[in-house]
Amino acid sequence: TEGPGAGAGCDPSQWAAPGVRGLQPYLPGKPITELEREYGVSDIIKLASNENPLGPSPAAVDAIRGQLLDLALYPDGSGYVLRQALARHHDLEPECITLGNGSNDVLVLLAETFLQPGAEAVYARYCFAVYPIATQATGATARVAEAHPPGHPQALGHDLDAMLALVNRKTRLVFVANPNNPTGTWVDAASLAAFIEALPRDVIVVVDEAYHEYAAPMGLPDATRWLRRYPNLVVTRTFSKAYGLAGARVGYGLSSPAIAGLLNRVRQPFNVNSLALAGAEAALRDRDFIARSVAMNRNGLAQLADGLAALGLRFQNSAGNFLLVDVARPAPGVYEALLRRGIIVRLVGNYGLDSFLRITVGTSEQNRRLLEALGEVLEGAGP
Ligand code: PMP
Repeated sequence: TEGPGAGAGCDPSQWAAPGVRGLQPYLPGKPITELEREYGVSDIIKLASNENPLGPSPAAVDAIRGQLLDLALYPDGSGYVLRQALARHHDLEPECITLGNGSNDVLVLLAETFLQPGAEAVYARYCFAVYPIATQATGATARVAEAHPPGHPQALGHDLDAMLALVNRKTRLVFVANPNNPTGTWVDAASLAAFIEALPRDVIVVVDEAYHEYAAPMGLPDATRWLRRYPNLVVTRTFSKAYGLAGARVGYGLSSPAIAGLLNRVRQPFNVNSLALAGAEAALRDRDFIARSVAMNRNGLAQLADGLAALGLRFQNSAGNFLLVDVARPAPGVYEALLRRGIIVRLVGNYGLDSFLRITVGTSEQNRRLLEALGEVLEGAGP
């Protein structure tokens, strides 16, 4: 009602692209600084965005420092050094790699490249929220497969048979998150391989492995080893999770050179900044940091699982660095009470999961504080 254009009787939404008109924006986790401003609390812990509680790899921080004095220069738009390093890491050619401003960027590039009004994308209910947003923005039609029902070992997780049943001649993209966020659920190697094999070769299948470093030691497949066999396969990875570089915004897609070439046409010329390029390349080499991050996550998942079970709460087993917890009452009240105790978790009402919270695994001390606060809140103790 205030500001430029107010009261002039013009509603710019009528001029927006039809796909954009119906979009709901992505809801990120509440930043620590916002909670400080709004509630005046301090000593805040954020377990809301599946970030690495160890912080960034010290080697990445050093590499980023080393880049600071070159900030007046544009980054290497081809990301040559990082793509070479990733090619070695994955035993693939650099031409297979598309760098993104986070893997989110690669997901959006895929939608922009392969979707348009009249085309269709298939994904599962409770899938990562960016698939619907990226799909709908193009004006393409979404086909949403029902998830596994409560009581299933992968409750709320992707039902690959249900997804396959939605594929038709108009389908251009299929999104599979393994594991999925916010559910933590996963699909096993044999089921995923059979699913990819069964898809028509003119359907691009995107396997989102944002949590791969945590998930692989739990036995989840590495879909990159199927890239040579399936020219319609794209695997996305990120430096935001186990590598601890969420703030730097760098992720990538692995695919046939032909698909990477198409994505490169729509990619912004400098979509990954110079600090992110340097940090990611150093982080990739710091295998010890990844090992420590994975071990901390394994212990933290066990700690949270024990504590949540002791509180009588049900949760989904997770192959990521987070747990989807059923608090068995409207979750916003619990969320608010935790905020007042300086703890930020994630509401998932936007996924239709109104009695659930998504809690990121923190350090053992953060997990302890979360469990203690959750116990108080559920007992109805005042703040
Ligand atoms: N895929 C999944 C499944 C995720 O959970 C996330 C982060 N929330 C992303 C992709 C995107 O992360 P980023 O853009 O930081 O790589």
